[in-house]
Amino acid sequence: MKCPLCDKLTRVHQLPDDELVWQFPFSVALLGPWQYYTGYCVLISRVHITELHQMPTDVRIAYFEEMIVLSRAIESAFEPRKLNCESLGNQVPHAHWHLFPRRADDPDHLKPVWLALDRADRDEEEKRRLQTSPLSRRMILDRLREALRTQGAPTP
Ligand SMILES: [Zn+2]
Repeated sequence: MKCPLCDKLTRVHQLPDDELVWQFPFSVALLGPWQYYTGYCVLISRVHITELHQMPTDVRIAYFEEMIVLSRAIESAFEPRKLNCESLGNQVPHAHWHLFPRRADDPDHLKPVWLALDRADRDEEEKRRLQTSPLSRRMILDRLREALRTQGAPTP
């Protein structure tokens, strides 16, 4: 079966310039589509594995630490009310983290983002709202990369 995330990783150098945030040794950070949550990233494991507990321990620790480094960068760049770090994989069973910075002015800030994203599936206006940030994707990327560089984020 074809895995969309493995597929994405094989053509990481062809990704649009407003999508690739950072290449870590054990994962790749992409800017997600839902930029209402300004700074929302998906951190994809370089190895295809379904469950975190199936990863070799050293790889898992390094992958987890990369998620922490990216979390710090998101926090320093956008100062969210709260950062939601989620590892689900129900739709794509290849280990990846969703890092959703939650805005203080989000009327749904007490709820998981998935309820709003489910509405966006059925409602074009809601979809547009959730894909739109006060900042351009370019600006969001620049801020994230700057925060990662400041931290000395590792590269392959
Ligand atoms: Zn995969």
